[in-house]
Amino acid sequence: MFRSSDHEDSKKGFQMDRRKFLKAGVASALTAGMVGAMNVLPAEAAEAVKNTAGPQTGAKSKLHPVVDYGGSSVSFVEHNDQWLGTTKIVGTIKPYHEAEQGFYMANRGKYSPEAQQGFYHYKFVMKHPFGAAIAQFAMSLMAPQMVSGQPSPQKLPIPDPEQMSQHIKDAAYFLRADEVGIGKMPEYAYYTHKAPSQDDLLKDDLSKSIPVTERLPYVIVVMIDQHLETMLASTGYDGISASQSMRSYHTTGVVAVILANYIRGLGYNARAHHFTNYASVMPPLIMAAGMGELSRTGDCTVHPRLGFRHKVAAVTTDLPLVPDKPIDFGLLDFCRVCAKCADNCPSGAITQDRDLVEYNGYMRWNSDFKKCTEFRVTNKEGSSCGRCMKVCPWNSKEKSWFHTAGTWIGSKGEASASLLKKIDDMFGYGEEQIERYKWWLEWPERYDVSALKH
Ligand code: SF4
Ligand code: SF4
Repeated sequence: MFRSSDHEDSKKGFQMDRRKFLKAGVASALTAGMVGAMNVLPAEAAEAVKNTAGPQTGAKSKLHPVVDYGGSSVSFVEHNDQWLGTTKIVGTIKPYHEAEQGFYMANRGKYSPEAQQGFYHYKFVMKHPFGAAIAQFAMSLMAPQMVSGQPSPQKLPIPDPEQMSQHIKDAAYFLRADEVGIGKMPEYAYYTHKAPSQDDLLKDDLSKSIPVTERLPYVIVVMIDQHLETMLASTGYDGISASQSMRSYHTTGVVAVILANYIRGLGYNARAHHFTNYASVMPPLIMAAGMGELSRTGDCTVHPRLGFRHKVAAVTTDLPLVPDKPIDFGLLDFCRVCAKCADNCPSGAITQDRDLVEYNGYMRWNSDFKKCTEFRVTNKEGSSCGRCMKVCPWNSKEKSWFHTAGTWIGSKGEASASLLKKIDDMFGYGEEQIERYKWWLEWPERYDVSALKH
C-alpha cells in the first residue's frame, strides 16, 4: 500500500520550498515563459490574476457579490436532457435506493466483515474523540422533523424570484456558508428510497425503507471549506481526516436545516439534505447549482477554488427562484492528463484510464467506490480518508498571485493542465508536511485513543 513517505526521497531532488521560490522572483520568469509557450496573451493572464473572482449567473448576493473561483477561467454551460454542465447524458439515469450507496453497502455486509464493523455506528469516525465530538452533535440534525415539515399556511407572495434568490444567497452567507448556488433540481438525483435503520441494514433487511416521493423544482446548495491550514498539515488519511469532513458536514447541515425552516416559514415546501439525512445524492446538485464538475474520482465533484476541500448540504424547494448555470473550468481536460489522485489513492480506487465510460446513462471515469469505502471505514492509521482531496491541484493552497495565475492557466486545456500539474508537483503540494500548522493531538503515535469508548 502507498505511503506518502515512500515518495519523499524520490521527490526531494526536485522539490523546492515555494516561499523561497516566490521570494527569489523566479516565479515571474517561469510564469512568463509558460504563458509564452502556451501562446496566450500575458496581458490576459495578468488581468485574470488581478480579477480572481468571477461572475455568477442567476441572482447575485449582496453580501458576497462575486463568486471566488480562485482565478480559474470559468464559462457557463447548459443543464438539459443531454448535459448536466460538462457531464454528458447518454441514456436514462436511473435513480437508486440509498442503501446502494457505498457506506450502506458496507453496513449491509456486501463488502468485507471488517468494513461492516468499521461503518456500524460510524465507528470509523467515532474512533477519534474529536471526530466523535462533532459527529455526535451532527446526529442531532438527523430527525425527520429537523429536515422537513409542513410549510406555513400563509404563502408570502414572491413578485420577483431574482430578488428572492439574492435574499436566499445572502441568508446562507449570513449563516456562514463559504459558497452558495441555486440550481434546477435534477429529478434523477432523488433516491428511490431512504435506507432503513443501521440495525436493519446490518441484517440486510430493506423492508422498512421509505419511498422518496418529493419532487421539488429548485435546489439551494451550501458549501463549506474543510479548512486550509489543517489540510496543509494532514496526510489526508491520518487522525484528523474524518474531523475535517465533519467540520464541513455539520456546518453545512446547520445552515441547510435553518434555511429550510425559514423557507417553510414563508409558506413554501423545503427539505434539507445533509450528511445524516439525505433524500438525494449531492454531486448532480452541485453541478446543477454551478459549483463544480465531475472528476476522475467517478462521482465526486471538484470546485474551481476549493477542489474537493469542501462538503455540501442542500435544500430542495418550490420557493420561486432563479437558478444559476452549471460551470465549465476545463476540469475534464485537466483530469485526463493529471491523475494525481489516482497515483496517490491508498486503496487504488481511482482509475488511471484516460477516457470516460458510460455509467448509468451518463459519462464518467470508471473509479471504484467499493475500494474507496473499504479503505475509509477500515483505515488503521487514521480516521477515514481524504488523500485525493489533499493532492488535487484545484484544492487552493494559498492566496498568492502565482497560485491564482497557475489556476487560470490550468483551466485552459490539456497542454496547460500538464503545466499546472508539474508546478503543483514541483512545489511538493500533496506531499509536504507543514508541521507549524499541526494543532490536533497526534494519533495514533502519541495518544492511544483506541481505548476510549464512544
Ligand atoms: S478518499 Fe477514497 S478515493 Fe480518495 S484517496 Fe482516499 S481511498 Fe482513494
Ligand atoms: S487530482 Fe487531478 S485527476 Fe484527480 S480530480 Fe484532481 S485534477 Fe482530476
